[in-house]
Amino acid sequence: MPPGPPVAARPTTIVIHYGEVGIKGKNRPFFLGMLKRVLQRSIEGAPVRKLRSLPGRLLLECARPLSADEEARVLERIGGVFGVAHFSVCAEVARDDLDGLEAAVVELASRMQTQRPRRSFRIVTHRSDKRFPITSVDLNVRLGQAVVDATGLCVDLKSPEMEVHVEVLQDRFLLYGDRRPGLDGLPVGSSGRLVALLSSGIDSPVAAYRLMGRGCRIFFVHFHSLPYTKRASLDLAEELVRQLARHQPSSRLYLVPLAEIQRKIVTEAPAPLRVVLYRRYMLRLAALVAKKVHARALVTGESLAQVASQTLDNLVAIEEAVDTPILRPLIGTSKGEIIAEARRLGTFDISIQPFDDCCSFLMPQSPETHAKLDQVLRAEERLGEMQPMLFDALARTEELRIKLPPLS
Ligand code: ATP
Ligand code: MG
Repeated sequence: MPPGPPVAARPTTIVIHYGEVGIKGKNRPFFLGMLKRVLQRSIEGAPVRKLRSLPGRLLLECARPLSADEEARVLERIGGVFGVAHFSVCAEVARDDLDGLEAAVVELASRMQTQRPRRSFRIVTHRSDKRFPITSVDLNVRLGQAVVDATGLCVDLKSPEMEVHVEVLQDRFLLYGDRRPGLDGLPVGSSGRLVALLSSGIDSPVAAYRLMGRGCRIFFVHFHSLPYTKRASLDLAEELVRQLARHQPSSRLYLVPLAEIQRKIVTEAPAPLRVVLYRRYMLRLAALVAKKVHARALVTGESLAQVASQTLDNLVAIEEAVDTPILRPLIGTSKGEIIAEARRLGTFDISIQPFDDCCSFLMPQSPETHAKLDQVLRAEERLGEMQPMLFDALARTEELRIKLPPLS
């Protein structure tokens, strides 16, 4: 069947559906406000005219038609925003042009079928403007018949192989077909703040990403051993935060010097306990940063028994150092799964670049794998008053602000 007349170039409109945000009951306006804020920030620089709310979905209206390239970049950004369930670019038809709507629906259905052959379909009409004189069901029947006549597709209301959606707005009809999947989850910022301990390794960026997806705004802390190690681990940490900016458009990264504390531990504590002690001081410093930025908890990339420092005994001996809760989203995840997730996120290739970890600096020959808390506490007692060193490390901490660049 020949396709109908092409739909005139109108300013691009994108319909954005949210999933979990929509089931938040009385708190829905709060979550929705957050989602709109993150979306607006993520597509800064695009010619947006308005982001408006319809029940269960948002309409992103542009001031002019986007070029294919611009559209691809806007869609890529929307695809990175947590809270978006799925989204589609719409075609538009004037409200007084029912024949035009029919032709556009037929054209869209034919195009979808050409892109991926399918046998059945249904039309789904949403009337945002209930004063429109034709009911949704009647419009579905009329448009559906036109598609059947023009394409030979069959109507299947229960489990169609494709759907054509029609939105009846006050001034126009919008129509769209296949949906692009979003990340779902909750908009960043809606669940409060966390401080993530970000090494330059594979796991910690994945851990931070997972909790961004549960609505947490993440403040990143990276510990380094300058001047005894190279700057590479700091640059990699920064690059990782930049890579995550698609999901959290503005971030802070604190680069905290640990070398002096490590040197003190190396000279005054039993060698096998060094790593456990380094980690305890990292947690203490991270907890101080959390207090400063009003974060409620810490997040690490620890996964049970993945490496020597992450045995159950060591995790218990390490976490005793702070009262701040520690979230470990990867605790039961295998390395293989974490690597697959890091690849999807685009952090893997950054994480595998070589660097001197601050813990490889002054690593003992045989680190303790089953630290006893009383031994750890005794070792710390021998270190004496460490508070001034902690405050000194914080005073020498560099703070970087990392932002998602605006679309141009
Ligand atoms: P990762 O891949 O995240 O580095 P890992 O398997 O190398 O993890 P460890 O090096 O034992 O594991 O680190 C455990 C956790 O401690 C990390 O996931 C991270 O949250 C934190 N951590 C380790 N090193 C640093 C660092 N230099 N700066 C900040 N956090 C760190
Ligand atoms: Mg590491």
